[in-house]
Amino acid sequence: FRAILEQLRDVPSVTADGHPIELLCNIELPADTAHAHGVGAAGVGLYRTEFLYMNREDTPDEDEQYQAYLSVIQAVQGPITIRTLDLGADKQVDSGRIQGPTPNNPALGLRAIRLCLKDEELFRVQLRALLRASAHGKVKVMLPMISNLNELLRARALIDELKQELRNEGRAFDEQLQVGAMIEVPAAALAANMLAPHADFFSIGTNDLIQYTLAIDRVDDEVNYLYDPLHPAVLNLIYMTIAAGQRRGIAVSMCGEMASDTRYTRLLLALGLTEFSMHPSSVLEVKKLIRESNLAELRAVGQRLIDTHDPDEVQALIEQLATLPE
Ligand code: PEP
Ligand code: MG
Repeated sequence: FRAILEQLRDVPSVTADGHPIELLCNIELPADTAHAHGVGAAGVGLYRTEFLYMNREDTPDEDEQYQAYLSVIQAVQGPITIRTLDLGADKQVDSGRIQGPTPNNPALGLRAIRLCLKDEELFRVQLRALLRASAHGKVKVMLPMISNLNELLRARALIDELKQELRNEGRAFDEQLQVGAMIEVPAAALAANMLAPHADFFSIGTNDLIQYTLAIDRVDDEVNYLYDPLHPAVLNLIYMTIAAGQRRGIAVSMCGEMASDTRYTRLLLALGLTEFSMHPSSVLEVKKLIRESNLAELRAVGQRLIDTHDPDEVQALIEQLATLPE
């Protein structure tokens, strides 16, 4: 079976009826780039940068971060979407600087973009490193946990300010650097039409989107039986995000685990997803399914799934689209 998959490495990722679907990788460590390359991915759709801050007391300075981003840029062909710091909640670090008082609800507290906008100096250091790295390859910046337009606008204003700073210093960066929002809070999915004019792209983070939509703590074993990517509320939020991006003409990808899971590949195609970012080990199997799928047929079924309010029909359509265990 592995050998059959290997043959898929160099064939294009297109549906049976000829629609190209972009397959990207999620990476955490610069060393993961070897796996992304090994499966012939078109680039990196999520580079988690938290590892730079983990297992140490201090925080990495601009040059250390710049070097880390540069090593990824040099190892990957294609665009690289680098996510700004997503610390807090399920991603804790030792640094005394970042560790605040223990909140009652860490997942609802000071994490990700909220932390970065509060500790602006921390954010500036990373954004300057990202901007400088953008001079050397196709880098995109992705903001995690956006829950309102103001956060997106504040982050963009800061990036513009730092661009001017770098210009004054005579340092190079990509003037066209794209800045996108992760859609992983239900409010962001519901307000996607309002965010879209201010984002260069969206990336759906289903791990958190499912957690927040269904009120299921993603790290609590007691309730994980309720963690359901197929819940109609989750599917509707995914659909709304994709549709908002399409209306505005910006790319929408998915970088949560759902995009890695072959049980959901056809369903996501049916909802209109055209960019998947996943663990490198899933790329070839997802590509195989894409090549066997007729997009026009799937989209028609997906539209029916969104339009109907009959629970039995919803269930039947999900069963038709998702590859569920017997
Ligand atoms: C997500 O929430 O789906 C996601 C990709 O981010 P993380 O798992 O790092 O929170
Ligand atoms: Mg997330």
